[in-house]
Amino acid sequence: EIDQGEGKLNAFLHVNTEGALATAREVDAIRAAGGAEAEALHPLAGVPIAIKDLVVTTDMPTTGASKFLDGWISPYDATVTLQIREAKMPILGKTNLDEFAMGSSTEHSGYGLTRNNWDANRIPGGSGGGSAVAVGSYQAPLALGTDTGGSIRQPAAFTGTVGTKPTYGAISRYGVISMASSLDQVGPVARTVEDAALLQDLLSGHDPKDATSLPEPIDGLSAAARSGKDLTGVKIGIIKELRGDGYQAEVLERFKETIQTLTDAGATCHEVSLPNLEHALAAYYLIMSSEVSSNMARFDGVRYGKRVTPTEGPLTIERVMGASRAAGFGDEVKRRVLLGTYALSSGYYDAFYGKAQKVRTLIQRDFSAAFEDVDVLISPSMPSVAFEIGAKVDDPTAMYRADVTVIPVNLAGIPAISVPSGLVNGLPVGVQLMAPIKEDARLYQIGAALE
Ligand code: GLN
Repeated sequence: EIDQGEGKLNAFLHVNTEGALATAREVDAIRAAGGAEAEALHPLAGVPIAIKDLVVTTDMPTTGASKFLDGWISPYDATVTLQIREAKMPILGKTNLDEFAMGSSTEHSGYGLTRNNWDANRIPGGSGGGSAVAVGSYQAPLALGTDTGGSIRQPAAFTGTVGTKPTYGAISRYGVISMASSLDQVGPVARTVEDAALLQDLLSGHDPKDATSLPEPIDGLSAAARSGKDLTGVKIGIIKELRGDGYQAEVLERFKETIQTLTDAGATCHEVSLPNLEHALAAYYLIMSSEVSSNMARFDGVRYGKRVTPTEGPLTIERVMGASRAAGFGDEVKRRVLLGTYALSSGYYDAFYGKAQKVRTLIQRDFSAAFEDVDVLISPSMPSVAFEIGAKVDDPTAMYRADVTVIPVNLAGIPAISVPSGLVNGLPVGVQLMAPIKEDARLYQIGAALE
C-alpha cells in the first residue's frame, strides 16, 4: 500500500522497509518457536506502525519536516520509540507534518504537502496529516501523532480515522521535538477506538526523563473500549459555544445524529456553557508562539542541523545563527518565532503572555465546572469538512480559526478523542469527546459505543 499510495499522497518522509521487515521476521520466528517467549509477546507485536517525523529515531532521519534538520539522525531514541521497539512493532517509517508541527493542513511541510486520502485536491488536516493519511489509506494500521493544538484530532476528523490527545503528561515526550511544551502531547492514530486504546495502553506510564510525566500510568483503556455499548447512566454535555455560527450545516446534522445514537444507547445529553471558550484561540496563539519562540532557539546553526556561513562581512556567531535560521526555517515557523518573541519582550509580557495565562486559567475553570455535572463533553471535531489545498495557506488567521474546537482541550490539559461520525458530501467528519484529567478511559468507552 505504501508503494502504491506514496506517489500521490506523500504521507511518508522516510520508509523503513528493511527495518520493518526485520522486526516482522523476528516476531514470526518467536511465534513459530512457541514457548515462554511467544507467550510473553505484547498483543501489538508484529503490528506495523508509522511514526510522525517529530519523534526521534536512531535508525532513520528525523526532520520535523524542516529543511533545518534535512537528513539529521538522532543519537538516541525517544522513549515512545523504545516502547514501540520493545513491543516488537515494525516501524514502517516517518510521516509528514507541518514544519515542527506548526499548521493545520500539512501544507507547511518543507518536503511537499500530503494529500487527503478521500479527495486528493483537499488537505488532510495538520499538523499530523501524514500519520492520519497513512492510517486512513491503509498504508499503516496504527500511527503516532503529537497534539499541541489539535494535530492528532483534526487530521483524524478529516481522514475518517480515530485520534486521541491523552491527558497532559500521560505519555512521555522525551525525544519528541518540542513545539509548545505546556501543550504538547503524544497520542495514537488508528482505524478503530479499540486500536487507539491498545496503543495508548502501551505508551502510557511514568518516564523519569520527562519532568512533566505523570507518576502513575493511565491504563485499562482497551478494556474500557471493549466494555459494551450500554451507556445507561452516562451524562454527556453538549458544548453550546462549539456549534452554531460558522459550522457547516451538514456537520451539525451529523452531530445531531451522534447525539441521537448516544441517547439511544442510554446516555442523557444536555447543553452546557463554557463562556470563556470564545477567548481560547487568542490565548492559544499567544501562549503557543511564546513557547515556540523559546523552543526554536535550539536551532542555532551551531549544535546540529543546518549551518550557513555568510561569505561576506564579519564572521560572527550571531551572523551564522541568523543566516542558518533564515535558510533553514519556513515562513510559518518564522512568523511564530517573531510573534512569540514580541509577546515575551519586556514591557509586553504582562499585556500578552501574562494575560493569556490568566485566560487559560479561566478556561480550565470552565471545564472543571462543567465536569461537576457531566461525565464527558462533546462537540463536532471540526466546524467543516477538509478544505481544498491552497484555500487558507496564504491567510494565516483563517488557518488559525479552524482550530477553534480542538485547542481549548490543550489549554486545559484534558484528554479528548475524535471518532468518525459519518460523511458530508462524501467526505468524513468526526465527533470530539472530552473528559476530565486522567479519565481517558471514558473517551474509549463512549467512543467505542459510537462505532
Ligand atoms: N493547528 C495547530 C497549530 O497550528 C496545531 C498544532 C499542533 O497540534 N501541533 O498550532
